[in-house]
Amino acid sequence: MSARPWRQTMLPNEIDVLVLGSGAAGLSAALSARDQGLSVVVVERSEVYGGASAYSEGMVWAPLSRQALEAGVPDTTESALAYLEEAASSYFDPRRARAYVENAPRALAFLEEQTGISYELTTTSMDYHQHLPGASRGARALSPQPINGRILGARLADLRSPLPTTMLFGGMSVAGNDLASYFALRHSPAAWFRVGGLILRYLLDRLLGYPRGLRLTGGNALIAAMLAAAEQCGIILCKGKEIVRLVRTNDRVSAALVAGKAGEQHRIRVRCGVVLACGGYTADESLREKRYPHVQRGVHHVSLVPSGNGSGHVLARGVGAKISEQCSQPAAWTPVSLVPQPDGSTVGFPHFLERGKPGVIVVGRDGRRFCNEALCYHRFVIEMVGEDGPPGGKAWVVADHRALRRYGIGVAPPFPGRLAPHLRSGYLVRANSLCGLAEKLGMDAGGLESTVDRFNGFAETGQDLDFGRGDDPYSRAAGDPARSPNPSLGPLEKAPYFAVRLYPGDLGAFAGVATDASARVLDDEGRPIPGLCAAGSETLTVTGGDYGAAGLGIGPAMTMGFIAGRTLKAQNRGKRQVADHG
Ligand SMILES: Cc1cc2nc3c(=O)[nH]c(=O)nc-3n(C[C@H](O)[C@H](O)[C@H](O)COP(=O)(O)OP(=O)(O)OC[C@H]3O[C@@H](n4cnc5c(N)ncnc54)[C@H](O)[C@@H]3O)c2cc1C
Repeated sequence: MSARPWRQTMLPNEIDVLVLGSGAAGLSAALSARDQGLSVVVVERSEVYGGASAYSEGMVWAPLSRQALEAGVPDTTESALAYLEEAASSYFDPRRARAYVENAPRALAFLEEQTGISYELTTTSMDYHQHLPGASRGARALSPQPINGRILGARLADLRSPLPTTMLFGGMSVAGNDLASYFALRHSPAAWFRVGGLILRYLLDRLLGYPRGLRLTGGNALIAAMLAAAEQCGIILCKGKEIVRLVRTNDRVSAALVAGKAGEQHRIRVRCGVVLACGGYTADESLREKRYPHVQRGVHHVSLVPSGNGSGHVLARGVGAKISEQCSQPAAWTPVSLVPQPDGSTVGFPHFLERGKPGVIVVGRDGRRFCNEALCYHRFVIEMVGEDGPPGGKAWVVADHRALRRYGIGVAPPFPGRLAPHLRSGYLVRANSLCGLAEKLGMDAGGLESTVDRFNGFAETGQDLDFGRGDDPYSRAAGDPARSPNPSLGPLEKAPYFAVRLYPGDLGAFAGVATDASARVLDDEGRPIPGLCAAGSETLTVTGGDYGAAGLGIGPAMTMGFIAGRTLKAQNRGKRQVADHG
């Protein structure tokens, strides 16, 4: 096991490509540019690499991937584009969307080849808006397979850990496709063997002195593989450093000033260009307040993004770039609960899964439901903070005992996990009756009782007459196939009852630096700024502000980063941009 730090101490005076940010977008751009024979430095502002990408599930939306073709799942570029267009509506940008859809399978194949990470088609993950033309069922979202953290050796400490609330026992990562085994513990001996094996492996890693399990999953696996590949191919990685200014001379971005620890400034001349991949603005409270209408109305918001604080936008503006808000939503939303920590702080947990399960509803302080709970996380939050949402944007997931023990709520685990710590911390609220639960939450008890009564009736007939939950394939899939007549509807009837408070949260920015189909940054007049590219959450989204499928964060970040690397090489040669080739 090597204890060598990442190669980072000596920043060169001159380099071909300077990448700012070490998430999926930045590392993809770095690997792509390096593959083109360019010398590359990645500068990361934080003390750890990976950004929100390291927190993520690492899923990518890549239509017509090799994996989909091998599986024989029918799909076409035109139907993927039609889907994006319908979901984006008036914010659709056909050229950027086409560049994304056409290059995503190439970028994914490149990433697999360069890093050794392997992606599998997630056939259970369908496009979220099944009613839209072009929607696919299981052809486009892919998940990374776990990797062994030994590829980083002692430098594992340089990788941002997963969101603490998503790990078990304080350091054990869980892959998306492990979840089925965890949920099956109630009835399956095979699940006990599998989960037992994972826990044993984790304990062994801890006994060997590792600060967390070496089985890296999701975005952590992705970033670890990218970092290892970056170092191997000679990319200079440098963390804990801040670029304070980009320099534009002779009309192109030609240098950057890096701040040293003692306040001194180091100038790096950039021969081909700079890639901005700083992860957007959503980690900054004041910028959120500026852009999020619900925050302006006083609704508490929780961003899960660790480090994108808008500094990339400031650098971009400094050389004349346009920051665009041409999208229906300023960020990708998810409902979040706040998990109390031993030191008195709280950490967010994204509620992707349990809202659509039988025996689970979401209500406001008036005790009333306000939407189809099985909507995808982005649209659920739009409802939660919308005009017809719960009073004050305050909502609680409510479940009966049976549902909680089957599916869990947030970090409160299904059987055989322990509920006591979550009850003690106040994260999970329990009462023996709905009335008692409402009283503890300061909720309208009559409202909650009549809502549950009505919902239980829907569960019996299989028809949610209020919000149509379980009427469409996506919300049916969010339910439990064992439940009939409607997999998403089950009664809340077995006391005790439980609740967890939900807040609107975000997974990353949608508003951002304006770019074209070649990932070139545009100025206020829509002209490319030579020598400047951008990718990922730093840029205006290619989705128009919708989040219509799993992987629409990392997918575009990885793909536009890949394009940026190619573009800078082509620009340097004075050739046409990669995406223009179609
Ligand atoms: C819990 C969670 C789960 C998610 N799951 C998925 C998923 O499965 N699939 C999906 O598609 N999306 C997912 N997302 C969204 C996804 O993580 C983001 O869309 C994606 O990570 C954005 O990548 P990025 O490289 O643009 O930004 P980031 O990964 O955030 O990287 C930006 C980096 O830039 C650094 N930086 C900031 N400012 C500077 C500066 N001035 N100079 C240098 N460096 C700087 C930051 O510190 C950070 O390390 C998830 C998000 C969360 C929070």
